[in-house]
Amino acid sequence: MSDKNRTSSSNPGHAPSWYAASANDKRVRPSLAGETQADVCVIGAGFTGISAALQLAENGFSVVVLEGERIGFGASGRNGGQIVNGYSRDLEVIARRYGPEKAAKLGEMSLEGGQIIRERVAKYGIDCGLVDGGFFAAFTDKQIREMAEVRANWQKHGHTGLEMVSKSDVGRYVKTDRYAGGMIDRLGGHIHPLNLVLGEAAAAESLDARIFENSRVTALAMGANPVVHTAAGSVRAKYVLVCGNAYLGSLLPRITERMMPVSSQVMATEPLDAKLIEDLLPANYCVEDANYVLDYYRRTADNRLLYGGGIGYGGQDPANLTGVIRPNMLKTFPQLAGAKIEYAWSGNFALTLTRIPHVGKLADNVYFSHGDSGHGVTTTHLLGKILGEAVSGHASRFDVWASLPALPFPGGKTFRVPFTVLGAWWYGLRDRLGV
Ligand SMILES: Cc1cc2nc3c(=O)[nH]c(=O)nc-3n(C[C@H](O)[C@H](O)[C@H](O)COP(=O)(O)OP(=O)(O)OC[C@H]3O[C@@H](n4cnc5c(N)ncnc54)[C@H](O)[C@@H]3O)c2cc1C
Repeated sequence: MSDKNRTSSSNPGHAPSWYAASANDKRVRPSLAGETQADVCVIGAGFTGISAALQLAENGFSVVVLEGERIGFGASGRNGGQIVNGYSRDLEVIARRYGPEKAAKLGEMSLEGGQIIRERVAKYGIDCGLVDGGFFAAFTDKQIREMAEVRANWQKHGHTGLEMVSKSDVGRYVKTDRYAGGMIDRLGGHIHPLNLVLGEAAAAESLDARIFENSRVTALAMGANPVVHTAAGSVRAKYVLVCGNAYLGSLLPRITERMMPVSSQVMATEPLDAKLIEDLLPANYCVEDANYVLDYYRRTADNRLLYGGGIGYGGQDPANLTGVIRPNMLKTFPQLAGAKIEYAWSGNFALTLTRIPHVGKLADNVYFSHGDSGHGVTTTHLLGKILGEAVSGHASRFDVWASLPALPFPGGKTFRVPFTVLGAWWYGLRDRLGV
């Protein structure tokens, strides 16, 4: 079933998520009609595009954002809401691949995404249920050893918020006997992601940015002043930022051949008895496990359990979302066998071959960033800000990211999905065997 068919009736144009139903702001912005101009035209109103738009609006640029559907329609309005610091590959892997100098530079930036979120929530009074603290759960001794290595490596980059948790202390964070131990991140946390991006969008609008919804970009004419076209209008700008991520479609093949849409599924229970949910997650930390295809879950402000997992390479949406996720939830919390599932939805993130975001330029005045590869709540905030900095003439951080190689997926359009499924099967098998 397509997203369009699954649209939320209480908040049209969004996936039928708990987020869409509980959004603070359900206003529909106008769609673009006719010709207009701006310093910067941003394509896509997810975290990346809105983070860039807000950074630019704060610095006095005139900004137009064109969103094909609704603000936060993509991954940004549907995700697990987990503030995970760092990148989808550990800094040690980054050092081995790209050298210690680049790893040090990326390390310096690795906590900034979470800081940007917290600063904006405070500065603009964004009501998005921000809660501090995350728990990484390990099933095996091998995963515990790997977490300890990550912690030691992060400490070299100044991150002192990580603490190992022994099996006997797991119950302080999550009441389940599935885990062998884990690690907490005091600088992690969770948010209602749709309310965060809506709050940031409203902040950008308060600084005169213009956001058009239901305004899908159909063509981009490059040139000294590029022109961005929708079905009913166009924007002539000095700069264009492409932030369409997994939903970009075939607009710009040079970008899309270097990413693969991957779906992940999420569901939310009915509101649970306060005592029960406090017992399951006593510290109100969000949890993600260390498996290759991982489960992630957390409490919501209205005492639901929001549980995610599952994966669909190529962005396929399983027909029975609850059937995919509920059995995993019950393995973790068998005591929820009688809990009603009130919402289930799916969303696509963009995977790159290296699992490192792909950042660069299509022309001197057309920049892009995509491919946060599943851990994007913080990275998109960082990279959106960095796109804004680059337009303002401060490109040193942009240049670091743009220097990292981005390779097309092997197998082209036809075979990239089966090749990746094969790789994931192998890593999943290793998790199941505990090796
Ligand atoms: C189910 C799920 C759970 C996740 N959980 C977590 C989590 O807990 N923690 C974490 O760190 N990360 C998580 N992620 C990843 C994270 O959500 C993403 O990395 C991040 O939101 C990507 O933001 P974005 O702005 O780059 O893309 P998106 O949010 O997808 O935004 C792109 C926007 O561009 C628009 N667009 C595309 N093409 C066009 C066009 N031609 N014209 C106009 N508009 C266009 C789309 O409609 C969309 O709104 C999850 C992802 C998913 C799917």
